[in-house]
Amino acid sequence: MRESPPVDVIVVGAGFAGMYAIHRFRELGLNVQVFEAGSDVGGTWYWNRYPGARCDVPSLEYSFGFSEELEQEWDWPEVFSAQPDILRYANHIADKFKLREHITFNTRVISVTWDEATRGWEITTDDNETHRAPFCVMATGCLSVPNKPGIPGADTFAGLELHTGLWPHEDVDLTGKRVGIIGTGSSGVQAIPELARQAETLHVFQRTPVYTVPANRKAMRDAVQQEFKDNYRAIRDMQQSNAGGVSNFRPVKSVQRAAADTDPGAIADVPPDGQPNFRGGNNNIKDLSPAERRQRVIERGLNELLNFRDVYTDPEANDIANELFRNAVRYMVKDPETAESLCPKDYGIGCKRQVLDRDYYDTFNRDNVTLVDLEQESIREITPTGVQVGDEHYDLDVLVYATGFDAMTGALLKANVSGRGGHTLNEKWEHGPVAYLGLQMQGFPNLFTVTGPGSPSVLCNMLVAIEQHVNWIGDAITYLRDNGLATMEPTAAAETEWVAHVNEVAEGTMYTAPSCNSWYLGANIPGKPRIFMPYVGGYPRYRERCEQVVANSYEGFQFT
Ligand code: FAD
Ligand code: NAP
Repeated sequence: MRESPPVDVIVVGAGFAGMYAIHRFRELGLNVQVFEAGSDVGGTWYWNRYPGARCDVPSLEYSFGFSEELEQEWDWPEVFSAQPDILRYANHIADKFKLREHITFNTRVISVTWDEATRGWEITTDDNETHRAPFCVMATGCLSVPNKPGIPGADTFAGLELHTGLWPHEDVDLTGKRVGIIGTGSSGVQAIPELARQAETLHVFQRTPVYTVPANRKAMRDAVQQEFKDNYRAIRDMQQSNAGGVSNFRPVKSVQRAAADTDPGAIADVPPDGQPNFRGGNNNIKDLSPAERRQRVIERGLNELLNFRDVYTDPEANDIANELFRNAVRYMVKDPETAESLCPKDYGIGCKRQVLDRDYYDTFNRDNVTLVDLEQESIREITPTGVQVGDEHYDLDVLVYATGFDAMTGALLKANVSGRGGHTLNEKWEHGPVAYLGLQMQGFPNLFTVTGPGSPSVLCNMLVAIEQHVNWIGDAITYLRDNGLATMEPTAAAETEWVAHVNEVAEGTMYTAPSCNSWYLGANIPGKPRIFMPYVGGYPRYRERCEQVVANSYEGFQFT
């Protein structure tokens, strides 16, 4: 085991969180070392290269606000950018701010251990090296551990096996191939239309249908981009007071109208403030007559159903919207049996992360696409030549897993973290994640998590959430240094109170309805405790709480 010279802070992960951490901590005069399992920066956008992968927050908003120069020099080609453009942005940031010199790539952290004697963290990497630092920041991502379900025979498949979250860097040629895809969440829904265009045949193995609505697919207009750039300071302020971390900034109406008129491909618009605000309309669906409701959907598209406030709070209103949605699917998909299978029935709009698509339902009208409904019979086994469902065997050359992630806690638990007294994070989180503000855990001094469980994280524009967390952590480390303090961690009482608050605000929402099973609840991973993990109280409320804690001399934290 080799040992490297100690640094001030070790950061695990070089996605957007780890990248900004380097920049910020370096500004604060800290010596930073980052370890990243991948061969380059970008995290999510480095790993998820499947065809169709793109953002569901407008790119002018899903961007960093810490550098005006960066804001002004970067141009987005589309309103909601595709993965290659977001990865290009990550690379540009790495080049511009010379981040790579702090990052060791192709290196996975396999243990993170508190050493009481040195009051610091000992990090072991898979190249058999140990590294030490008084502070460790886990920027390991909320959606970075791909989930491959334990379907019998999975390892026997002799064709090409792919996972959307681990997509190869080189082009995958599907021409003439019989392709199967398991999973119809956000990744599957984005990939399916693209795979259908490339493959000879596509079989979609669907366990649970989704409520998916058309994504905004407009190219970026120079005038809109310029207007954002001219107003970026105000826009960043607006993001800070929006529940989902997106501004309500609208480019002038004339620009919008001109854009719509000149773009024949433009379809029903997603609200420009991105998906978190789907939950925040001012109208109630129950205030409209049945005829008015139908008319609204016909005129404004499926997205309209997501903009009624009561759809997220009143089960009866939710049922109305769900049924209108199903009727639209029955209308769009020509084969009645396929249409019926595509209609979600067991849960309502608002339970899961809203899915956005391009041509999803129309894809099932193609001759080369077959939906295999797993509702009655799940996949019995995967064979060397395909997938067996009941008595039916589907011969495949390529099998794509779009089966999601061990979300929120997966990467943290996989890193084998043990804190004071040798107590492990796995023990502490046996019944679900327990953390104060999603930033720190009692018993794990000087260990910080970026967008950890109990923070708004995945319910927020994540670049906004990341900047806020990294800034907070940087300030906390500075506070310790300035005050001659060695360690900080939450008190057990503060942690318990925060976890209770996180649960309380999630209670009664569609997210936690008894019929709802989502990765927010850990329900996609067998045996994972059913706990609603992100903070649903809104980004501004959360941010204010973090600021209040600091103003009250780090209320809820204890120091040595
Ligand atoms: P990540 O980007 O996940 O980076 C974490 C990094 O840590 C990874 O590179 C990983 O390799 C590394 N790592 C983890 N464990 C270890 C270890 N033990 N040792 C070494 N390295 C390790 N969010 C939005 O706000 N809007 C969107 O539109 C959006 N779209 C998304 C689309 C997809 C397909 C996915 C999967 C997620 C999406 N997200 C979106 C969420 C997205 O994860 C965040 O926006 C953001 O990119 C997270 O950045 P991060 O740095 O926190 O984590
Ligand atoms: P996901 O939402 O968890 O979807 C996984 C899919 O796989 C589900 O349809 C699930 O079915 C299915 N599945 C899992 N195990 C299965 C099994 N054994 N048999 C059959 N089906 C199985 O994962 P995801 O689609 O990768 O999305 C995860 C998150 O990443 C999103 O919610 C979003 O936050 C982010 N993301 C965002 C975008 C974007 O638009 N910007 C795109 C992709 C991902 P069940 O529902 O029945 O479990």
